[in-house]
Amino acid sequence: MSRILGLFEGEEKGPLVVLLGGMHGNEVAGVKAIQEVFRVLDEGHIHIKGKIVGLIGNLRALEEHKRFIDYDLNRVWNDGYASLIKNDPEAFVYAEDLEGAQLYELIQKFSTGDYTSKVLVDLHTTSAENGNFIVIPEDEAQNAIVKALHLPVVIDLDKYLEGTLLKFMHDQGYISFAFEGGQIGSSKALLLHTSGIWEVLSAAGSIIPLQNDEFAKYSRVLQEMSESLPKTVRVLYRHYVEEKDGFKMVNGFHNFQKVNKGELLAKDKFGTVESPLDGMIFMPLYQEAGNDGFFIVEEII
Ligand SMILES: [Zn+2]
Repeated sequence: MSRILGLFEGEEKGPLVVLLGGMHGNEVAGVKAIQEVFRVLDEGHIHIKGKIVGLIGNLRALEEHKRFIDYDLNRVWNDGYASLIKNDPEAFVYAEDLEGAQLYELIQKFSTGDYTSKVLVDLHTTSAENGNFIVIPEDEAQNAIVKALHLPVVIDLDKYLEGTLLKFMHDQGYISFAFEGGQIGSSKALLLHTSGIWEVLSAAGSIIPLQNDEFAKYSRVLQEMSESLPKTVRVLYRHYVEEKDGFKMVNGFHNFQKVNKGELLAKDKFGTVESPLDGMIFMPLYQEAGNDGFFIVEEII
């Protein structure tokens, strides 16, 4: 498999849209959605402005169906990391060193050019239900592309998660956000990601919004899925876990479910883990790997 899923370039000036799937190798919906959209772009002779690029984040982990091989590729991005991966590949120690290096080199390569704007969409899926939301730095929360997706917008997550690619690219002038499409392995996630990519391409100005039933269906999907969910939430708390903690979430929690202070949320080797405050639970951990047990968020107006 190639790290480059596809490249479309229009003759007219326009935005650069980088679509990224498989930053976590166990999350394949984003990759499939990019392939699906690119198939239609290929067949449909759709007029494109600027450039649309599809990339795989952690190619080796994707091939091995793992979240990551040696370290989480979405928790390492900063200037120090960027200079590390610019070094000689011979000196790389961990599998993800090469993954990060190749990914960064490609993004840099495609970034050069005269664009009206630069957009990076990092496609993910989560391990709990109702995992459809956008993660973006607060100053971009009202961005038109983000608004077009209708999904809940989560701000301040970057204060808790060190080294996400979206934050790193934001600092390099990109409108960059994570687009969480729902539960890992669900067909809903593929549909939501496909719908979302079409909306992003329209809202960014890469394509003229398509006037057909298929596209109308995609728009409806996004609206309907978001109807019962909050519009914008702020992260208030993160429960950090280490692998040795034996952290085990109580079954059945879904994203944006209301929880009360003192409510039993999980167990670990130290005993019970209770909610430290009233709010909504967010990204409860229902998979083996990861250091974020859960977050508590509040809706903001
Ligand atoms: Zn992910």
